[in-house]
Amino acid sequence: MSRDEKRSEYEELEKKITYSSKNIWLEIDDKTKKDIFNFSDEYKQFLDYSRTERLTVKWTLEHVKKIGFEDLNTRKSVKTGDFLYVVNREKNIALIKVGKEPLEEGINFIIAHGDAPRLDLKQIPVIEDVEIALLKTHYYGGIKKYHWLNIPLAIAGVVVTSDGSKIDLTIGLKEDEPIFVIPDLLPHLAKKVQGEKKAFEFIEGESLNLVFGNIPVKDDKVKEKVKLAVLQKLNKEYKIVEEDLISAELEVVPALRSRDVGIDGSMIGGYGHDDRVSSFAAIRAILDADVSGKTCVVFITDKEEIGSDGPTGMKSQFVYNVIGRLFEKFTGRYSELDHRAIMENSVCISADVNAGINPMYKSVHDEKNTAKISHGVVITKFTGSGGKYMANDADAELVGRLRKLFNENGIFWQYGGMGKVDEGGGGTIAKYFALYNASVIDCGVPVIGMHSPYEIISKADLYYSYKGYRVFLEKGC
Ligand code: MN
Ligand code: MN
Repeated sequence: MSRDEKRSEYEELEKKITYSSKNIWLEIDDKTKKDIFNFSDEYKQFLDYSRTERLTVKWTLEHVKKIGFEDLNTRKSVKTGDFLYVVNREKNIALIKVGKEPLEEGINFIIAHGDAPRLDLKQIPVIEDVEIALLKTHYYGGIKKYHWLNIPLAIAGVVVTSDGSKIDLTIGLKEDEPIFVIPDLLPHLAKKVQGEKKAFEFIEGESLNLVFGNIPVKDDKVKEKVKLAVLQKLNKEYKIVEEDLISAELEVVPALRSRDVGIDGSMIGGYGHDDRVSSFAAIRAILDADVSGKTCVVFITDKEEIGSDGPTGMKSQFVYNVIGRLFEKFTGRYSELDHRAIMENSVCISADVNAGINPMYKSVHDEKNTAKISHGVVITKFTGSGGKYMANDADAELVGRLRKLFNENGIFWQYGGMGKVDEGGGGTIAKYFALYNASVIDCGVPVIGMHSPYEIISKADLYYSYKGYRVFLEKGC
């Protein structure tokens, strides 16, 4: 055997028995590339609209109603082939396609979250300082505070007035509307106040105030003339008074639109990929899924970024209750044992983003166990941190079944965990769904610059998360 032949034999062996993920762009044809770019355009529109968890639910609800989804709560009974939805407090939505198999055989679930890191206005937000009206905030989720300085910000949310009516208050998302800014300190004077502090501390939570207005009322008897003027404007335009802001949820979000990133347009930059990319991929997957076997449910939850507590977080019983009602309306009977059996026999993809390797910060990643962008949707066996604490550790059997499903159906996927051992870590909603003794595994898109106001994903990964979720809903694993 010549040397050349020998090399090719080992090359063959290497290909056969070693694992490596593939760069999707090298594997696909022009038609698929076009499909990827078209799908991405649709996603960008969704992302620019869905700036808050409420807007994510609103977008979804409007779309599913148009194609015949009906409110489970208004139905007396349900049957195979029905398309249903249930909304919780405008912040959660469950989408259901009822299959042929008995519910007790289990459901194919995909869960994702519609909330994203942001700043929330305080309940008494308006102050005046040096004749500038400011809005005070309290940050929501894991942010680097300095990211939020000197970028265009919008306000989106609702105000509930004392007569109980609810007013939509959104300013700064349309091109012709003003935006708001948290001004940073000029470098000329920042040497001590900022320069000598650590990066996470140089801007304090109490300094994250938005510049809101500057024209005072003309009346010497009034002490805070600019504050009164901005309140007057809010009163005139939205019919609200300062006390109404106490019963408001007003979220401060980047006013930046999503854009293609890279000269090849291969990536998407935008606010809130975590976790609206999973939400969109899962929603589109169930809308397109041809459900003939098991019943499928896509559930968009809230409050993931702050620990999943409260009635709209994953720790709430909302999904469990929805499945109970579905069971009763589908079969005309109810038993708690059977209700629990449905959950126990279910398989759930916890669709959430993972860290894509950042070429400038490779040292925090274990390169062999970290996702690369454009290498496909990421399967993650366990989450948590330092000794796997707080992890949902998916069974090897489940990882095996999902891997088989993806391999057999041409889904580009890769393995990825979160960072080096003891470097940090993070959790998802997987562990809360596992409370039902369901089989749960994390699987989502890799993101670079996660939890920043302008995160980056690959269009190819977005597309194959959608394809992967869809095949899971249709075939299960
Ligand atoms: Mn997430
Ligand atoms: Mn997150």
